[in-house]
Amino acid sequence: MEKGVLLIISGPSGSGKGTIVERLVDDLGYRVSISATTRNPRPNEENGVHYFFKTKEEFEKMIEAGELLEHACFCDNYYGTPKEYVERQLGEGNNIILEIEVQGALQVKKKYNDAVLIFTMPPTIAELRRRLVNRGTEDMETIDKRIKRAEEELEYLPQYDYIVINDTVEQAVRDVDCIVRAEKMRCGRNPELKNKFKGDALK
Ligand code: 5GP
Repeated sequence: MEKGVLLIISGPSGSGKGTIVERLVDDLGYRVSISATTRNPRPNEENGVHYFFKTKEEFEKMIEAGELLEHACFCDNYYGTPKEYVERQLGEGNNIILEIEVQGALQVKKKYNDAVLIFTMPPTIAELRRRLVNRGTEDMETIDKRIKRAEEELEYLPQYDYIVINDTVEQAVRDVDCIVRAEKMRCGRNPELKNKFKGDALK
């Protein structure tokens, strides 16, 4: 069975990573992990679809019970990845995406050395601000906080494997899928092939 790739996509809110992930899931059959968070739902968000919305106490219980693969505090709220779903998908050979911020991404990389870390950015910071303002889901104070956080997150870029500039969604989705396809062809991911070909040669 072909092994699935554990793909981590990070990037500032407004980088368009959510849309990229949606396309990878809807058009290309990738699986996505649904995170738990203590942030309030936005008007279009549903519990169990976009996030599992939790109280701080519920979230802390999940941490204590060891149910999370990673967790982090981002702009005053907790976010974390439920472990069980990710492990099941990898076991079944599916590509699974975690759309998470940098601290969580680095925690996962420590546990899964072959996780692939992609950082997405819009073409410019001005474009990032424009997208956040147009989205209209955050007030100006939160937008400023998120832009400042985006600048801080850029410090982690050298620890990522790839950067994808999201100029058009179509191209960005193709870029991510190309990365995953190339990753699957890495010799280190296919150690069994050596013996398979050697076995064939002896037949
Ligand atoms: P938002 O509030 O805009 O939905 O998400 C804020 C940030 O938290 C984004 O960078 C998003 O990728 C990140 N995030 C979402 N889920 C998780 C998670 O499970 N773990 C971590 N570490 N970050 C997450």
